[in-house]
Amino acid sequence: MTTSIIGFPRIGEKRELKFQTEKYFRNEITEQELKDFAKNLRLKHWQIIKQAGIDYIPSNDFSFFDTTLDTAFLFNIIPEADKELKLSKLDRYFALARGYQGDKGDIKALPMKKWFNTNYHYLVPQFFKTTDIKLTDTKIFDEFQEAKEAGIKTRPTIVGPFTLLSLSEFHDSKPQNFVDDLISVYQQVFKKLADQGAEWIQLDEPELVKDVIGSDRELFNEIYQKLLQNKFGLKVLIQTYFGDVRDVYSDLIDLPVEGIGLDFIEGRKSKELVQTGFPDDKILFAGIVNGKNIWRNHYQDSLQLLKDLNVKNIVLSTSCSLLHVPFTIENEDFPIEIKSHFAFAKEKLSELVELQKILNGSDKNAEIKNNNLFKKARVTPNKKVSQAINNLNKDSFTRTPSLQKRAEIQKKEFNLPLLPTTTIGSFPQTREVKQFRSKFRHNEISQEKYDDFIAKHINEWLKWQEDIGLDILVHGEFERNDMVEYFGQNLDGYLFSKNGWVQSYGTRGVKPPIIWGDVSRVRPITVKWSKYAQSQTKKIVKGMLTGPVTILNWSFPREDISVKESTLQIALAIQEEVLDLEANGIKIIQIDEAALREKLPLRKTDWYSEYLDWAIPAFRLVHSKVKPETQIHTHMCYSEFTDIIPAIESMDADVISFEASRSNLEILDELQKQHFKLQVGPGVYDIHSPRIPSVEEITKTIHAILSKVPKEKVWINPDCGLKTRGITEAKASVENLTTAAKEVRKEL
Ligand code: GLN
Ligand code: ZN
Repeated sequence: MTTSIIGFPRIGEKRELKFQTEKYFRNEITEQELKDFAKNLRLKHWQIIKQAGIDYIPSNDFSFFDTTLDTAFLFNIIPEADKELKLSKLDRYFALARGYQGDKGDIKALPMKKWFNTNYHYLVPQFFKTTDIKLTDTKIFDEFQEAKEAGIKTRPTIVGPFTLLSLSEFHDSKPQNFVDDLISVYQQVFKKLADQGAEWIQLDEPELVKDVIGSDRELFNEIYQKLLQNKFGLKVLIQTYFGDVRDVYSDLIDLPVEGIGLDFIEGRKSKELVQTGFPDDKILFAGIVNGKNIWRNHYQDSLQLLKDLNVKNIVLSTSCSLLHVPFTIENEDFPIEIKSHFAFAKEKLSELVELQKILNGSDKNAEIKNNNLFKKARVTPNKKVSQAINNLNKDSFTRTPSLQKRAEIQKKEFNLPLLPTTTIGSFPQTREVKQFRSKFRHNEISQEKYDDFIAKHINEWLKWQEDIGLDILVHGEFERNDMVEYFGQNLDGYLFSKNGWVQSYGTRGVKPPIIWGDVSRVRPITVKWSKYAQSQTKKIVKGMLTGPVTILNWSFPREDISVKESTLQIALAIQEEVLDLEANGIKIIQIDEAALREKLPLRKTDWYSEYLDWAIPAFRLVHSKVKPETQIHTHMCYSEFTDIIPAIESMDADVISFEASRSNLEILDELQKQHFKLQVGPGVYDIHSPRIPSVEEITKTIHAILSKVPKEKVWINPDCGLKTRGITEAKASVENLTTAAKEVRKEL
């Protein structure tokens, strides 16, 4: 029995890579310094994995930004404009990821999307008729070599061709046109790696856990039959994760590959599939240690599963890359009784090795010790919470009167101009703001001083918003570290790690809180600052909350009760907050559901039954009791929701804003076609990039919106909150936005 992992967190134990990369962005270190740093970090990580005792160690799972982008970059799948930038290779790479605006040119960043059902984002490769696929980078080879020189033989990993094509966007072309060229470059990679002495290659094909039927299945088979005709002596592992491969299992096991990686945590049918037969001449890389959650593995269950699988050649593995969990529990200061329930990335390595030892008969104690952890209930249930949940009925989930009646009432109440302008909530979280919060947290400054600081910021930004003529203002969220943790800190049942960062995109990380027990609100969360901000201006200031589904989705969930139940608990807590805001004079409340879309089951057939049927009512529960004149906004960081429009409408908010500009506003066609009922604010520019959109650009976008959505329903706002932006660019962009809106308004 041997052990393997699919990938390791690349950001470093203390997010070192983030800090160095950002220094590089600020021109504080040179390209060489950044590269040297990354090299050392990779080496350190390989050594950790090796020392833990893992047999199959991946390489090329490292990335300066994203591995899908790395793959596109490797194969020259990049827009012409980027090739023409007179910048170093690394800077052209970063230009694709973040956009570039400077004396060498002006290009937009590639679109960015969530990676399957995670909060990690990948950059969407763009194919054009003119795309000329060829090997133009050496990263995968260099990193293999680097490890080899350090005495570590790795298994290079790369996004597989089927997943690459499925995740990409095609302009004046289609995936089929590129199959042969792609196969040729993948084979060149095989050959080069084989020449370098690699034994295995790992092709990541998570796309296989979606519905792979009809032409998709044909495409998959066509690709792999051709690709595997020549492996140049390499052993190939097709690695899947985030679900089971029920549509292509029979195809997969017939392919001439040496290894197949399956996920037994999220793959509900994986066990059943394997039990129908798994070839003796292949290795099953069995993903039994959860790569996405932070609870300890229950060895007894894993061992039983392995027995039930009854497969000749098994390698113990994780369910997905460990990229999705924090680095290590070592630096946390939870008491030992709590700590003992957690396994982060590094600890998961030990779990694999312990399981291996138990199976080899060399460690009897490990199993007993592990079993003791699961013997008694981890937490005592909160009776009040369960009672409140039991008392819910149909009315608890229904807001009255109807959307249309409310729209009339609110029109009178607010008397807004056409194309009302607003922002999504947060303003730049400068170093000063972050430092102040951190000092306050460490008791280095008094409550009074801290409050003065926050109040001063709110006032400054209110004044600016008034000056540029925004219609609905926000307080700026300066007091919040993050849109989930801030709420969790005021909820019972939550735990927080100090250092549990997980990469979200590029250098940005999130630190998901941990749902430890039953959740309830201990004190008002946002009332103080919302009320304060409203008291400082005659204009309306939007209250700003995070919705229950997003709080749940961006936390590490419990495994001892259902996610549905946890979400309802959170919804009840946020409902209290909504009513509190309303009672304190807040007239518009935005309840962000940034992460609602991302947890849609990967298979369409499961969307409603497994998720939306409880997630949407949970959102409704939050605002079902507000007055008709209170306007409820929601915000989603994702534009691809046209396929769930009925569900979005039944959230029954009055207004929704969403990210759109990075996805070319395609969503508008669908909104038009489906007669979308809510008022909408499709983001008119991309906030993920530091570039400043011009008034002309925004005006054009607004016209595009107006050509598809009735003017009475349109709101004008950026894509998302501005917390990650610098002050200058944030202000300039929003000023251009208000100017553009006012100009277009005159034409209406
Ligand atoms: N209100 C939040 C903000 O502006 C929304 C963030 C998000 O959607 N991710 O930061
Ligand atoms: Zn957003």
